[in-house]
This record gives sequence, C-alpha cells and structure tokens, in this order.
Amino acid sequence: MDRVRVIGGGLAGCEAAWQLLRRGLAVELCEQKPTRRTPAQTSDHLAELVCSNSLRSANPENAVGLLKEELLRCGSLLLACAAETRVPAGDALAVDRERFAAAVEQALLSHSALTLQRGEVTALPDDGVPTVVATGPLTSDALAADLTRLCGTERLAFYDAIAPIVEADSVVLADGPDAPPGAAFFLSRWGKGEGADYLNCPLDQQQYQAFVAALLEADRVSAEQLAQHGEQQHAEAAHYFEGCLPIEVMAERGLDTLRFGPLKPVGLDDPRTGRWPHAVVQLRKEDVHGTAYNLVGCQTRMKQPAQRAVFSLIPALAAARFLRYGAIHRNTYLDAPAVLDERNALRARPSLSFAGQITGVEGYVESIASGFTTALVLADALAGRPLDPPPATTALGGLWRHARGSLRAPGNTDYTPCNVTWAMIPPVGDEPIPAGQKRRKLSKGDKRARLVERARRDLDAWWRAAASR
Ligand SMILES: Cc1cc2nc3c(=O)[nH]c(=O)nc-3n(C[C@H](O)[C@H](O)[C@H](O)COP(=O)(O)OP(=O)(O)OC[C@H]3O[C@@H](n4cnc5c(N)ncnc54)[C@H](O)[C@@H]3O)c2cc1C
Repeated sequence: MDRVRVIGGGLAGCEAAWQLLRRGLAVELCEQKPTRRTPAQTSDHLAELVCSNSLRSANPENAVGLLKEELLRCGSLLLACAAETRVPAGDALAVDRERFAAAVEQALLSHSALTLQRGEVTALPDDGVPTVVATGPLTSDALAADLTRLCGTERLAFYDAIAPIVEADSVVLADGPDAPPGAAFFLSRWGKGEGADYLNCPLDQQQYQAFVAALLEADRVSAEQLAQHGEQQHAEAAHYFEGCLPIEVMAERGLDTLRFGPLKPVGLDDPRTGRWPHAVVQLRKEDVHGTAYNLVGCQTRMKQPAQRAVFSLIPALAAARFLRYGAIHRNTYLDAPAVLDERNALRARPSLSFAGQITGVEGYVESIASGFTTALVLADALAGRPLDPPPATTALGGLWRHARGSLRAPGNTDYTPCNVTWAMIPPVGDEPIPAGQKRRKLSKGDKRARLVERARRDLDAWWRAAASR
C-alpha cells in the first residue's frame, strides 16, 4: 500500500486524509496538538472549528451552499459529519462543534490505514513521501519560516478579527408584551428557519448613533501590543479580509454603514412594535443547548474593557457576560498562483502539495473543499492518471481555479484570499443561440437557477468518472 503524509489535522487536512484513505492509500496524519496549540485553538480534537460554529448558508442558490451540496454528493467526510451534528440556524448549516470534531476524529481514527502522529512538524519533509501540507492560517512559526526559505517569496500575512460570545442568560429577553424597550427577541430574518435560531437586539436611532460614536472612540489593540503576542508584522497597515472587517473599521466608513451591513434590521419585526427597528445586532446560537451566543458581524480589534463598554450600549446586552472577547488574528497564506503548480504542488519541491486556507482560500467550507480536491488530484497523480479537477462550471472547480490565479483579470497579479463566490463560475446566458431563435434576457433568479442546474449536471458527469477510478 502506498504511503502519504498529511501535515495538519484541521479541516482541510482531515478531509484530505479521508479522501486519500478512501483511495486505498496509507495515511500518516501529523498534528501538533496537544503538544502545541495555535492562539485560536481551545480543544485537542482534530477538525476544530476555531471561531463561529456556522458553515454558512445551506441554500444552493448561494455559492457556499452549492459548494456544500457538491461536497456532500462527492462523499466529503466533514460535510457528512456536519449534517449529522447540525444545530438549528435558519438558512445556515451550523453545528455543535464538539460533536462535529468528535465525529470526524472517530471516523479517521477507526480507519486501519491511518496513523496519527502527535507533535509539531518544524521543517518541510524532503524524504520523497508525497505530503499534503494543510497547516492553516496559523501555521506554526518554525514551519512557516521553512516555507519562506523554500518558496523564495515573501510569506504574506494579514489580519482577520473574531466576534465576542456572550452567555445566553445574561441577555435581556423579551418574554411577553410588557418586555422592556430594547429587549432581545427570537426571530430568523423574514421568518426563515426555526424561530429560535437568532436572538435580535434592537436599537433605536439614538441608541444606534451612540453605539457608532462609541465604536469610533474605543481603545483598540495596537500594533505594538500585537507584536508582544507574536503577531508582529504589518498590524498597523493591516490588510483585512473584506468579509471579516472589524466592526470599528466598518463604522469608520460612515454612520449608516453598519445599519446597511451586519446590523441591518430588514425582515425583523420587533414583536413589541410590529416594525423593523432602526438597527439590529443579531446573536447566533453557539451550542446545541443554546447557552452561548455569538455577536454576528461584531468581530473587533477593540481592547476588552472597551468591548464591555461599547457592547453594553446595546440595551439587550447591558449586563452581558462575555464567554469570549473579540480578537484580531493572523492569517498566513501562500501566493498560490506563483508558487504552486496545477496540482497545488510546490514548484520548488513537488513532493509537497498544499491544501486549505494556506493556499488562499478563505472559510471553513472552502478549506474542506480545498482538502478534498487536493487529495483527489494527488491520488490520481500517484496512480499515474491524468489531471482531472472538478469542472470549471462547479463551485468546487471554481474554487480550485481561484488558487491557480486563472480567475484574475488580465494584468492583475495580486492574489488575495477569497470565499467561494459566483464570480468564480463562468456566467450562463452567453451560450450560442440556435439559428432562428432570439436571445431572451434572463432575470438574476433565472441565471442563478441555470448556474445551479449546470453545476449539478457537470458535477454528476465528472463525479461518475472520478468515483469509478
Ligand atoms: C481565529 C480564526 C477564526 C476564523 N473564523 C472563521 C469562521 O468563523 N468561519 C469560517 O468560515 N472561517 C474562519 N476562519 C478561517 C478558516 O476557515 C479556518 O481557519 C479553517 O479552520 C482553515 O482550515 P485549514 O484546514 O486550512 O486550517 P486549520 O483548520 O487551522 O488546520 C490546521 C491544523 O494544522 C495544525 N498545525 C499547524 N502548524 C503545524 C505544524 N507545524 N505541525 C503540525 N501541525 C500543525 C494546527 O494545529 C491545525 O490543527 C478563521 C480563522 C482563524 C485563524
């Protein structure tokens, strides 16, 4: 039996290990925990979800929903475990993180061809064993330094921020018609999903303006303080991922930016007034028992006392107890189009393939998808089969091509981490028109439906061939 190695037992590494096992390879999985943890990790399980417990939208008309559907259809271990450990969250696929990680770990450890090596890998192996490196956005310093040496290019680091989590019973709840003004109420936007998935903290105009003003004045963690915690580079000129901007940075863009962004009130009728509030801070359930809530969109770089002061201006959170404060964190990724080849293997040492967030995909599901495709492509190469990644018309294929850099506009050589988006998939509606027929203008909804239909058809055809190999 051929032997392969996977470094990093996170989301991409666990998915890659499983797909390699399924293709008859013996896998040595190397994970630094429990010897060493990244600053974001709190458990010693494999496949730890370090922040939100949500894998985002489950609706296939949303690009990440389609990606999830494709992974499930193609036998993803992690998506199957997510479906098994799901907790209610409206349109989103959220999981009980402990049960999710335990399910993934159990599946892997009970496979007879898997060996788990605990301990940090401090140098990139050069022993010819095909190796998938999936050490994530917080790759340990020693390994990252070795990678920098090997690539000959500057490793890039930028910063993301995470949102606070509060104890459920410290939130002021609207429990009847006499509830105090500003009490939080249960409702999913537009009434989608289970009613109790989200807790909504309303703000009137005056409260919203005071909240925004406090955000702008709040004390933030400085570059020097980040440096003391080992987050030394580029912190002041921080290059944030647009989908994860700190709330105070969004507030700097204008008074109404938050109200039209993460604090939008649309579709959320306050039961006390029957109307949408001026703004709403949504809380999403963190665990299956509903004992903790995450402040959606409130990722922040504010200092902890400032977080207590600023978030207590939201009436429903006036006495909130914080289980976790928001924080800023590092994100390490390769300039994949420059240093990786068409199989995600390092040009400078082709026995090393890369998967997950370190390749410049962004997000849990995207990291799983990257682990999935990298493993398939590697297994094919080891068996002497030609390269056959998922079709460009699928979400899996689009994401794969993002890391090739082939989706960039001509002349653009920048490479930035990215969630899966429809922009990664070629548009529909441009196909040749049969003679004698007129082109019909498609609505956005029609286009989306045709994109999904085409992706499903093309994925099925590709997977029938890929699965039989
Ligand atoms: C703080 C933070 C919060 C995030 N929040 C979200 C979120 O809410 N939603 C979302 O969709 N995405 C989020 N992301 C982005 C990303 O989706 C996750 O980080 C995701 O886990 C990445 O998957 P991965 O498999 O690439 O890396 P990881 O899941 O981080 O796995 C990497 C694994 O490699 C191990 N490792 C690292 N170095 C070594 C070494 N030298 N030797 C051996 N093992 C090593 C680590 O211990 C870890 O287990 C967040 C990222 C960070 C850093």
